[in-house]
Parts: sequence; structure tokens; C-alpha cells
Amino acid sequence: MKSAAILTNRPPTGTQEWAASNVNLQDGCEHDCRYCYAKTMAIRFKRATAASWSKPRLRQHDVDRSFTRRPGRIMFPTAHDITDQNLDECLTVLTRMLAAGNDLLIVSKPRVACITRLCDELKPYHAQIVFRFSIGSTDDAVLSYWEPGAPAYQDRLDSLKTAFLEDYSTSVSGEPMLDGDPDALIAAVSMFVTDSIWLGKINRLRNILPLNCPRDPEAVRRGEALMATQTDAAIRALYARHRHDPKIKWKDSIKAIIGLHRPTAAGLDE
Ligand code: SF4
Repeated sequence: MKSAAILTNRPPTGTQEWAASNVNLQDGCEHDCRYCYAKTMAIRFKRATAASWSKPRLRQHDVDRSFTRRPGRIMFPTAHDITDQNLDECLTVLTRMLAAGNDLLIVSKPRVACITRLCDELKPYHAQIVFRFSIGSTDDAVLSYWEPGAPAYQDRLDSLKTAFLEDYSTSVSGEPMLDGDPDALIAAVSMFVTDSIWLGKINRLRNILPLNCPRDPEAVRRGEALMATQTDAAIRALYARHRHDPKIKWKDSIKAIIGLHRPTAAGLDE
């Protein structure tokens, strides 16, 4: 289902490329990704510390709120994930948004147990949902370093297969790309993707790491090594290899290098 878009003054970036609005229900996230921009902003505005971010607090008023039909697609969540700990509350909020007639983009570093239950319980609204699973690498050593609390690669791939076999619209986010081999990711997930595979660079890492990982020279070293795999030349070569693949979509960080058209409205998902 294609949702309406929201006009913006500047080309949308980040989550605005994907959805017109977003909904969250907790502060903090147990996945504790080292590159997490939501964590950086929470630290900057003194809503969390580098240590407290991984111990989330549910916001009960956001679990209890009601919803009306919104223009454009809603992304859920953008500043935490759907986990064993908050699955009941996420299902409550998701069901309420869907019952109000909203189109949802459900984004997660997924666990099979959570996705199986979502697929099952949200089936009546299946046409209103796109699942987008974040998989930045097929290498568990890479994933466990950058996303220490998040599920392993196989759990994420199995989640994708689960949603695909349950006939949901499926998508993968390879943003941020976490190694120099996005081709391996594309090859592994493509047959289970009905909608899109988004690729994007790692953003703002030199600003993020000092707050998210203070006094951590290993994070700085690995961050510099990762950014060195995403030079303009490497991105142009990646684009040249996959430009004709209809499933691949390019995030703002890549559009800027290639000179691709930037959308003029939030939530166009293009
Ligand atoms: S899963 Fe998302 S919200 Fe949670 S720490 Fe990672 S990037 Fe941040």
C-alpha cells in the first residue's frame, strides 16, 4: 500500500525518507548500538548517559495513548527496538495504530520469536504493514561489535524469512553498512525481500562515538576503518554494480555522492 507523503522545505533525510511520522514508547534501547544517533541525542539532552541507555524505561503514557488516522506512513519504532521485554506493549500500540487505519513501517533488528508473534497477531492488518529489518552485515563478529545487544545474523535472516512466508511486504535496511561487503548482504536477503533493500553509509560517526563510547580508542579505530570502506570511489563502484537492481534503494548519504534525485516530501520511501 502506498501512503500519502508530507511536503518538506528541504529534502528529507534519515527516517523522514521512509515515513511521514514516527511513534516510540520507551527511552533507551537494550541493543545499545555504538553508532546509535538516538542514543547520542539522549545523552546530549541529558535524557540518558552512555551507560544508562541500554536499560530502557517504558513510557506508559505512550503505551496508553490513542491514535487517529494520520497522513502518510508511520514508522515504528525509531528510537528503540521491539524486544522480548516490550513486545506486549509494542503489540498494543501497533494494533491501536492499525485499527485507526494507519499504514505502518515496522523497523527492527528482529528476533524470530518477536516477529512470529507480530506476524500472527497483526494478520488482520497485513495489507497496512511493511516490515523493514536492519541487517548491516552478514558477519556476526561485525554485528556483535557495533550492535552488542542485538540479535545475531541468523536470527535476523530467519525473521525475514518468517515475514516473507507469512506473505507480508518485506524490506531490508543495510543502513548503516557495517562492513565493506554489502554485496554479500544483498545476495543473502534478496530472495526474501518483496519491497526494497536500502543501502546507506554510516553517518556522523566522528560526532557520535565520543558521546556513545567515551574514552574508547578501539571504537575510534574501528570507526575510522569502517569509514575507509565507504569512500566516494567505493560508493560509486557499489552504485555501478547495483544500479539496475529494482529492489535496491539508496539513502540520502549515497544519493548525495551519486547525484541522484532527492525526494521533496517525507515518507515517499524512494
Ligand atoms: S536498535 Fe536502533 S534505537 Fe536501538 S540502540 Fe540500535 S540504533 Fe539505537
